Amino acid sequence: MAGASVKVAVRVRPFNSREIAHDAKCVIQMQGNTTCISNPKQPKDSAKNFTFDYSYWSHTTAEDPNFASQCQVYKDIGEEMLLHAFEGYNVCIFAYGQTGSGKSYTMMGKPESEQHGIIPQLCEDLFARVSANRSPDLSCSVEVSYMEIYCERVRDLLNPKSKGNLRVREHPIMGPYVEDLSKLAVTSYHDIADLMDCGNKARTVAATNMNETSSRSHAVFTIVFTQKRHDEMTNLDTEKVSKISLVDLAGSERADSTGAKGTRLKEGANINKSLTTLGKVISALAEMQNKKKKSDFIPYRDSALTWLLKENLGGNSRTAMIAALSPADINYEETLSTLRYADRAK
Ligand code: ADP
Repeated sequence: MAGASVKVAVRVRPFNSREIAHDAKCVIQMQGNTTCISNPKQPKDSAKNFTFDYSYWSHTTAEDPNFASQCQVYKDIGEEMLLHAFEGYNVCIFAYGQTGSGKSYTMMGKPESEQHGIIPQLCEDLFARVSANRSPDLSCSVEVSYMEIYCERVRDLLNPKSKGNLRVREHPIMGPYVEDLSKLAVTSYHDIADLMDCGNKARTVAATNMNETSSRSHAVFTIVFTQKRHDEMTNLDTEKVSKISLVDLAGSERADSTGAKGTRLKEGANINKSLTTLGKVISALAEMQNKKKKSDFIPYRDSALTWLLKENLGGNSRTAMIAALSPADINYEETLSTLRYADRAK
């Protein structure tokens, strides 16, 4: 995987109370960076192995060598991406997986129990590093936006009064952007935490048979980080701007397995359109990188999500994907499809 443009991690969550009550069996095993899944209906020799940059375990005990705390996941993935942003790269971290597999836990965490996910830890670290690097010839600014993409429509989560169908446009130099999306200047981690709280309350949530509060939309939190440096000797100013996109994707479950009908089924098709296109974009990029090919067609424009992430996925950017997995036998098919999706990103 050395030199690959996408860093891929998988993370298995602990059993939930329903799975414990149903005496669910664990179908996942991890060793080093390899994840093994076994089909509960087939004999043991049908087990499939997948190798990723990281395979994270979170159920049973913290002594397991593959166990990763929120802090560890941030150190391995979030911090690396933040350092790239300081170097001036655009970066993107996204969480993929079926509803209830641990995407929000990994990205946002549970702030009330001090189990902060990647987004709050990255924001806190960003301001800590800005403070530590303070110097008279360097000035830094941070702006954030938070949007939701639901059925290919973009909504501003930081301005609930805005209409729910903002236009995606493309600037000849800056690339794709959302017209009229709020971009708010922030000067501390607390500013961001307050905005994120409001944004999260505004997210569209709809019940499905899978999970009462399952989110059917993609949430994209973007930080635009600008570093302006003045060189006394030459009297020249240089500016580095990096866009950090942190994405909590909608549940990847297929519509038919959630008993969806009508609107819900249409939602499923649209959500999957973004997820399918994202998969195609990421694997096309990975293939290009692995074969060291230069030009190839990347279908960014086929979905709102990939179009908006264009500057964060291809070219001179750094991407990390965390695939969230359920350990339970009843989710075998979905978990296998998540592992395959993650595998194509390598
Ligand atoms: P998703 O966003 O994929 O729908 P959630 O992040 O809401 O799923 O996770 C479902 C439940 O599992 C939540 O109660 C969450 O706290 C718990 N959970 C998920 N991942 C972990 C983990 N790695 N460690 C402990 N609890 C987790």
